[in-house]
Amino acid sequence: MNREILINTAYIVASILFIIGLKMLGRQATARPGNLLSGVGMLIAIVVTLLDRNVVNFTWITAGLVAGTLIGLACAYLVKMTAMPEMVALLNGFGGLASLIVGAAEFFRIRGGTVVPPDPAFTATGIYFTVLIGGVTFTGSVYAFCKLAEWLSGRPVLFRGQHLVNGLMLAATLAAGGVFVLTGDARFGLAAFGVFTVLSLVLGWTLVMPIGGGDMPVVIAMLNSLSGLAACAAGFVIRNNLLIVAGCLVGTSGVILSAIMCQAMNRSLANVLFSGFGAGPAAGAAAGAGAALTGELKPISPEDTFAVLEAARLVVFIPGYGMAVSQAQHVVRELAEVLERNGAEVRFAIHPVAGRMPGHMNVLLAEASVSYEHLVEMDAINPLMPTMDVAIVIGANDVVNPAAACDPASPIYGMPIIRAHEARTVICLKRGKGAGFSGLENQLFLLPNTRMLYGDAKGSLQGVVAEFKSLAQA
Ligand code: NAP
Repeated sequence: MNREILINTAYIVASILFIIGLKMLGRQATARPGNLLSGVGMLIAIVVTLLDRNVVNFTWITAGLVAGTLIGLACAYLVKMTAMPEMVALLNGFGGLASLIVGAAEFFRIRGGTVVPPDPAFTATGIYFTVLIGGVTFTGSVYAFCKLAEWLSGRPVLFRGQHLVNGLMLAATLAAGGVFVLTGDARFGLAAFGVFTVLSLVLGWTLVMPIGGGDMPVVIAMLNSLSGLAACAAGFVIRNNLLIVAGCLVGTSGVILSAIMCQAMNRSLANVLFSGFGAGPAAGAAAGAGAALTGELKPISPEDTFAVLEAARLVVFIPGYGMAVSQAQHVVRELAEVLERNGAEVRFAIHPVAGRMPGHMNVLLAEASVSYEHLVEMDAINPLMPTMDVAIVIGANDVVNPAAACDPASPIYGMPIIRAHEARTVICLKRGKGAGFSGLENQLFLLPNTRMLYGDAKGSLQGVVAEFKSLAQA
């Protein structure tokens, strides 16, 4: 009894550390200590769980620890920053699979008579939700991974009656769950168990199928939330209080993240999940959907870019996915410092969904030691845009597409953007005529005040910095 009190007290301490750590992650200044605090919470949780003799099997735990550490280390070294969304998708999927396995293992232990649950209907309900949510999370995440890694087409896969088929499968899953729970204990529910396990795996796949690659980050946040809920349900099955709390934290933070992303794209979650965005002729392949584009692309050299920047007093950098691809963040910081030494005031405008994951630009710029005071959120920078001498768009496209603000016929109309087009001069860095993630053409590149600095962003910026350096040496 005393041991149980000790274990649960330690779990409460760990839970409190998780919650405080999560809260601290919300601000850059406290993020590192917050991460450390959550890590300490996890360490307490692991040590206490290992001390609980009901759980311990050191052979398997050691094998899992060694295998997990090796795989984690390899991923940390090999996976590129731009591949993080795929990585997160896979991790969510494995979280779901782990919960499914816990639920299934408990079911077979009960069926085999190894354990007798104190409350069979309650345990059966827990097993049902663990397997259902875990299964959907697993295959849904694998599909999301395949789309992001371009192993499968990023376009939505739609067929007639798709929502009806999904609805029927969901209804069958619920019916099988009802039978499973109502049998009184899980011992008689093998057929029902088989039905909802298979259907949950199929459902994960078919629910993600009609969602376009562009919406995958939102789907991943939702799947992350589901992986938390599956863990929470598993916590009820094996009666582990910490798993219940940690699962709830992951579940709710995933929902909040999805809501923030949807808000930043001016779309509802239902629209993301069920509209098949990017499938029709209105988006994606039909580049330039909406009003016809006018004007011409006007290239500029690094030397002329230097001349424009040399005279500028207010400069705003607008980074996007291309900065991540090119890994240009360090040279961006170098150029910002050069400009400041030249007397200019420099800002970095951050769009909430620039790049391929939430906070993508913040992470890259922090890695390059750009001070946090230089970063300005979209809503704060937009009123200042008409005062900017130069806006330097570094591999951003959709998040600066004026069609989102001005063209009601555009598929992205209503998505909040950084109003780069309002700056006196706009210099856009990209490699060629590549469209943005939405597949749409961008009128910004054709405006009279826009110049195109073609090439890999890092190389182009190095060229501009070199011009400043040669001026300093002259
Ligand atoms: P984007 O619209 O995907 O455009 C990126 C641009 O970067 C492309 O036009 C590409 O043009 C250029 N580029 C690629 N590699 C480059 C390189 N090495 N050097 C220079 N330029 C390069 O990016 P974004 O403006 O950041 O917009 C993000 C998109 O993702 C939005 O549509 C957003 O809704 C979506 N999204 C993001 C999140 C999130 O969490 N961040 C979530 C959901 C959806 P070239 O090929 O011509 O070089």
